[in-house]
Parts: sequence; C-alpha cells; structure tokens
Amino acid sequence: MDPRHAAELGLLLEDPARVLTLPQTVEQLSRDCYWYSPILRKQLDGKVGDLVVQPINVAEIQAILRYCQLQNIPVTARGAGTGNYGQAVPLRGGVVLDLARMDRIEQIRADGVAVCEPGVRLGILENEARKSGWELRCYPSTIIKATLGGFLGGGSGGVGSVAHGNLRDFQTVRALEAVTMEPEPRVVLHEGEAVHDILHAWGTNGIVTRIWLALAPAVEWSQCAIAFDQFAAAFDFSERIASDATWTKRLVTPFEWPIPSFFTPVKQYAPEGKALVFFLIATSQCADLEAAARRQGGDVTYSGAYLGLRARPLLSDYTWNHTTLWAIRRDEAYTYLQCAFDPVTVRDQMRRLKERFGDEILFHMEFWKSADERIIPGAIPLVSYTNEDRLNDMISFCREIGVFVANPHVNNVEGGGRYRADNVQLRAKQRYDPKGLLNPGKMITFKPEEITR
Ligand code: FAD
Repeated sequence: MDPRHAAELGLLLEDPARVLTLPQTVEQLSRDCYWYSPILRKQLDGKVGDLVVQPINVAEIQAILRYCQLQNIPVTARGAGTGNYGQAVPLRGGVVLDLARMDRIEQIRADGVAVCEPGVRLGILENEARKSGWELRCYPSTIIKATLGGFLGGGSGGVGSVAHGNLRDFQTVRALEAVTMEPEPRVVLHEGEAVHDILHAWGTNGIVTRIWLALAPAVEWSQCAIAFDQFAAAFDFSERIASDATWTKRLVTPFEWPIPSFFTPVKQYAPEGKALVFFLIATSQCADLEAAARRQGGDVTYSGAYLGLRARPLLSDYTWNHTTLWAIRRDEAYTYLQCAFDPVTVRDQMRRLKERFGDEILFHMEFWKSADERIIPGAIPLVSYTNEDRLNDMISFCREIGVFVANPHVNNVEGGGRYRADNVQLRAKQRYDPKGLLNPGKMITFKPEEITR
C-alpha cells in the first residue's frame, strides 16, 4: 500500500495515532483463531493487512470507507478476532478496521432490548444486563473476549441456545445499523427480517455500527457436572433435560471419554473412563436435576452456584468450541467439525459414524432450539486429523447419513454453512459494496460484474 494512505487516513480521525502501522501489531490484528483448522492454517498463515484503523464513532467509519472506496483499498472489519473460519483475516491486504473502541452500551431498555455499539464485549454486556434483571439469550463460549459485532458477523449461537435458539432465531437481533461501502457511505437501518441481509455475512456487506439485541429475563444459575458409565446414558439424560421445557437450563453438554480427560483444571470432576455432562441449570431446579440424574445412574461430581463469568470452575469454558481448544492443547492433531444431528435418528447416526471412524471422531453434543422450536442435537465433534482427504471423507459421510455439517475448514461465507439460500446477503453486498472491497474473497458468489441495480 502506498505509504501516503496511512497519513491521509490519520487526517480523517480525531487522533491520527489510531492508525497503527507497526508490523507486529498489524500482523497480530490480522489474525483470528483459524489455526484450529489445519487446512485454514495452510491457506491463511501470512495473510496480513497493510495497516489497522481504530475508529471511535460512525462519522469516522464513514470517512474511512469513503476514502477506501475512492482509493480501491480493501477493508476487513475486526471485533476480537476469535472467529474460527478466518473470517477476520484480510486476504488482500488493505485496512483492518478494528472496532474494539466502539464499545458503548447505550441503553438496556425496560423491555429487555440492549442498544449497543459493535465493539462491546459480550461478557461486559452480560454483566450490565444482569444488573437490570436481564441476561444474554445466547453467547459463544468466548463470551469474555468476543464482541457483539463479531458475534453478529461471524458467530451462530452457544450457551443459552438450548433455551433461546441461535442468534438468527426468535428475533434476537431486533435491528442493526450498517455503514455501506459506497462513494458516499450511508448508515442503513435494518429491522425485523431485514437484519438477515447483514447477519453472519462476515463483514462482507456492511460495517455494523449499532445493534438492538433482545435479552432474556435473568435467572439464578447453578452449575453441575454429572458422570455416567456410558456415553449413551449421558446422552439420553442430556437429551431428556434439553427437550423438556419444564427444566430451565442454559447449557447441556455431554462429552464422551476421553474428552473430559483433556480438561486439566477440572479433572477432579472427571472420573477415569466415564462420560461427563456439564449443566447450567436454574438454582431452584438443581437438586431435582441431580436427583433425576442419580435415578438414571449418574454420579454428581461437582455442584455449585454460578457466580458469573469469574466463577471457578466456569464449566462453559470446556463446552462449545472451547472443547476443541482443550483437545488441541493435549494433542495438536485434533481438529473439529460443526454438525447438527437429526433429533429422531441421532443415535443411529452416531453409531454409524463410530462404526466407520471409531475414535477418530469423539462426540460432545451441544443442544440448541431451532426456529420451529425443535431441540436439535448439535455437536462440535473432535476429529483426529490425518489428511484433507480423510477429513472430507468424514464430512461426506456425515452428509450422506443426514448429519448437517457447517464446514469449519473453508474460508468463505457460502461454504461455512450459514449462507442464506435466498441470497439476501449477496444482494446486500451488491447494493452496499458494489466494488467488492469489504472483506474481499470471503463471499465467493459475489462478482462485481453481475451487479444489477
Ligand atoms: P471476529 O472474529 O473479530 O469477527 C468475526 C466476523 O465478523 C469477521 O468476519 C469480521 O469481519 C466480522 N465483523 C466483526 N465486527 C463487525 C462489524 N462491526 N460489522 C460487520 N462485520 C463485523 N462461535 C459461536 O457462535 N459459538 C460458540 O460457542 C463459539 N465458541 C468458540 C470457542 C472458541 C475457543 C473459539 C476460538 C471460537 C468460538 N466461536 C464460537 C467463534 C467466535 O468466538 C464467536 O463467533 C465470536 O462471537 C466472534 O466474535 P469476535 O469479536 O471475536 O469476532
């Protein structure tokens, strides 16, 4: 990039020091957690932006986008860089737009809607919401670091999804404002169904600057860990609790052995050879849950009040894609898939996968509620990686037997499994980023010459 761009971008900010050019800093802020995938590691190692810009308000974002549009400079939005698909890695250099400084919670409304800037960390939002009797409906296990804008841009769901669905469901994202990459960048309000134009588009079709997020009434939670001799029994019990609406729960995660052995800080709660289930359950129902588990042969190995995100142990730190992190710490050859099993045939699907792949695939299930109110046995199974063909074979077999896979080893919105078949994200890109400068290379169905206004 021409060195004059750094100086000229600096003139657009109240403080030019918010243009960062130190190579180590630029490199650090060009990375995310793509390295969970051995395939993405090969593709994305070494991809860096030319510089980082840290705006603090919408006017600065408009000025930056106006300049970059005119100069044909790519712009890649960044929250906290915890995405796993390389979503925030700039493929074609340019500006990394670091939104972490736009982190205001404007309001927690009395009707349970938080109005926020995109850089707010989800953990801070959760703590603030709880002060006024609300909590996040769902959050990734990276809650402490991850930003709300990044969750909308690249995430899907997590803790809480068993009760409230994923981020895209149940009008959890009520509205958002996004800045366009046009010669004169506009701030466009998307409400209701129109939020799906921008949601999970990896920052390819607008920079989200304001979010109206629906919350849930806060619950007093407890955590417990319950061991079962067999994974089948752990799964049966988990499924029962996840599917029965009379249980107020936020997390239901059964793990097959040896996954619990990877959780070094909580290994005292993981008896050798046994399957384990981690729960976040309403404190008022905790004793009943434990009694029900004992009747099914479960052994309660840990039980305690959940004292917020500083709680130790924090059982959610071992669930969702954190499980993969613990596995990689044990053995770098582990990677993962993101799956949704069929609620009716899940046991048969798991059996067939085990028959074919044995311990090359290890299960931990993450239940969520779908938009039509079914409880889906989602899973982020661990995979012992040997080579790309073998991984693709596993993905194909999953699909053959009816297991949905959002492939976390591809670096484009379409391949990642949350692409909208109605093409609303693509159409928004055609409207808002006709030159294709927002996170270029990540929405592969977009072709600048196909633009029809
Ligand atoms: P980033 O990684 O910085 O960005 C994500 C995408 O959003 C990028 O494409 C970026 O360009 C875009 N973006 C960022 N800000 C904006 C903006 N303002 N406007 C437009 N686009 C923007 N994800 C889940 O959904 N559930 C989980 O349970 C989960 N668990 C995880 C566990 C681990 C250990 C790890 C490493 C990742 C996990 N993830 C999970 C993925 C990730 O942590 C979450 O999706 C998180 O919400 C991303 O937030 P971020 O701020 O880090 O976003």
